[in-house]
Amino acid sequence: MGNLAQQYIDIAKEHYPHEPEFLETVTEVLTSVEPLLEAHPEYIESGLVERLIEPERGIQFRVPWVDDNGKVHVNRGYRYEFNSALGPYKGGLRFASNVYPGIIKFLGFEQIFKNALTGLPIGGGKGGSDFDPSGKSDAEVMRFCQSFMSELYRHIGPNTDVPAGDIGVGGREIGYLFGQYKKLTNRYEGALSGKGLTFGGLAGRAEATGYGVVFFLREMLKHFGDTLEGKTVVVSGYGNVTWGTIKKLNEFGAKVITISNHEGYVLDKDGVEGDKVDYLLDLRASGNRKCSPYADKYENAEFIPDKKPWEVPADIYIPCATQNEITLEDAKQIVANGAKYLCEAANMPTTPEAVAYLKENGVIIGPAKAANAGGVACSCIEMSQDAQHTFFTPEEVYDQLEKIMVNIHRQCEEASAVYGLGYDLVAGANIAGFERVANAMMAEGIV
Ligand code: GLU
Repeated sequence: MGNLAQQYIDIAKEHYPHEPEFLETVTEVLTSVEPLLEAHPEYIESGLVERLIEPERGIQFRVPWVDDNGKVHVNRGYRYEFNSALGPYKGGLRFASNVYPGIIKFLGFEQIFKNALTGLPIGGGKGGSDFDPSGKSDAEVMRFCQSFMSELYRHIGPNTDVPAGDIGVGGREIGYLFGQYKKLTNRYEGALSGKGLTFGGLAGRAEATGYGVVFFLREMLKHFGDTLEGKTVVVSGYGNVTWGTIKKLNEFGAKVITISNHEGYVLDKDGVEGDKVDYLLDLRASGNRKCSPYADKYENAEFIPDKKPWEVPADIYIPCATQNEITLEDAKQIVANGAKYLCEAANMPTTPEAVAYLKENGVIIGPAKAANAGGVACSCIEMSQDAQHTFFTPEEVYDQLEKIMVNIHRQCEEASAVYGLGYDLVAGANIAGFERVANAMMAEGIV
């Protein structure tokens, strides 16, 4: 790496030494776009990179709520409105106990480039709380969401900032957040996406991230004259993204043989198919954060505790759970298993050392900010549905989603080729996303 990227990475390190996840993504993106920075001295002269790595606005607030026994709890709420060069801030809310500014900022920074790749008019933002909804009653989750929105409502709106779901925030949470937003503002409008179908939600939004991942993966295989038919796939997680990914993989004739959670993984050599796929939704709804009941329910499936699914041999690996779930150790296992492709469905699931090792050993990587952009792309379609007071059919949505994913793959492929990097989708995604945001920022002046 030259000095150009390093000087900005050093600035981020100096200002945010205690946010390793944020520094990880800043380092990854800026290292990739070094050739672009070299080709555009005007970016340097206008302080574009310093501006880009600093959120436009960060909000932190107190979220007090009362549990079912009358006990008071206080959580921290966050919204980082990172970049609005391309449109209103857009990105999910994550409710998980490990949430702190470093996590929200890493997600917000990634979101800028992901959203840019969709080609749609959306900026980047992210928010959340260190509240963990698992094990809480519906009434507790509702009171928490109402308290969270009692502060957040003044910062968001259909043309300002449009939050959605992420880990720990699904249809139930979005419903409660929307109800409180409407009550406080007296406006029925698309200030949130991922809503239920009866109140402005988009048909197909729940499947969108997973479907998009598989459309992107299909394009990766196509590049090598390959198809998904008959491929064995190892995935992690068992939530919404995993569910959508498995559904679409099955449609394309691939066989998925694992699901997982933080306690271990389930191996189902018969394949997660038919009613087993929708059973994932029941598992999720049970709120106990376990995937092992799958192995109790289906005869040939077994639960392997305290292990990650990456040890299972397969043609394709798709991490769908969380950041840094594939370490260098895991990458070595994946290479030893003879894998050809890894496609990231979760945000930043592969550590930088693991990415480097996989690339060196010929594994083709589909990076998250490109491959999982189908979720936020459909959120933007939901925003336009709400603005038009209309309703799009699932077919209309899937059709647009597929076109968007094919286009994202093409952009990554082309950007990588233009800079002489061959077929490097990781670099291509960073360069193509960065260039689009940078062009808009240049045009909009120093703000
Ligand atoms: N949380 C999702 C993501 O990581 C979706 C964001 C959205 O729909 O706004 O892209």
